[in-house]
Amino acid sequence: MSDLNTLVEKQRTKFREKFKFSAAEIQKLADRIKPENVSNDIFSRFEEGSDGRKWQVEFLNILENKVSKDIYLKFQDVLAERKGYSCTGCATCCNLACSEFSPAELQKRADSGDNFARQFLSVFIPYGSKEDARKVYPEYIALLEANKEDEVYFYHCPKLTEDKRCSDYENRPQICRDFPDNPLCILPSSCGFCRWREKTEDTVLLLHAMIEVVEYYKDKISVNL
Ligand code: SF4
Ligand code: SF4
Repeated sequence: MSDLNTLVEKQRTKFREKFKFSAAEIQKLADRIKPENVSNDIFSRFEEGSDGRKWQVEFLNILENKVSKDIYLKFQDVLAERKGYSCTGCATCCNLACSEFSPAELQKRADSGDNFARQFLSVFIPYGSKEDARKVYPEYIALLEANKEDEVYFYHCPKLTEDKRCSDYENRPQICRDFPDNPLCILPSSCGFCRWREKTEDTVLLLHAMIEVVEYYKDKISVNL
């Protein structure tokens, strides 16, 4: 198994653990405010005005106004920590970007107002073939081939010079300035933000797990209100 495969596998295992932990913590939160005279669980259908219904409403408020807010603030802390790290100019992210969308699909999205698609197309052009992309970051392409069922399209930036410099650095768009904006994204070992990812990965996995659990509770309770 390649280093990259091992890294992704470890990330998945950690996520499963964080998910179990988050589910237990959220359930504890619901149990803590459960009225003594209610025996059914939080996902049950309760009569309007009943203590069970009031419990559900109170819990949804906690999820919305406390838990979700805390998650958002913790994400902001992680992004603020990124400032302690910087790009080393390896140029991998300029030379290889991938998308689940073809150029035509991206164009369609851009035309209908998708800002990310618009910026992406203003920077990247498609590779002639997957084999050309493979030369830039072979491990990454192999990982996608092994794990991704849907087609992936590979792109590169024509503004990158032969000596791996951005020929329009001052005017580079926001997506270039923001990369990487998520510590869970796969970075080449040459990337100056790898340490940021290592340092914040556990926290971000936990936050992602929390979001999934919170959304699950919100959806499942709301259908009964
Ligand atoms: S515009 Fe510059 S920074 Fe952005 S991808 Fe192209 S070469 Fe890289
Ligand atoms: S992969 Fe990381 S270090 Fe390399 S150019 Fe992109 S941001 Fe900079």
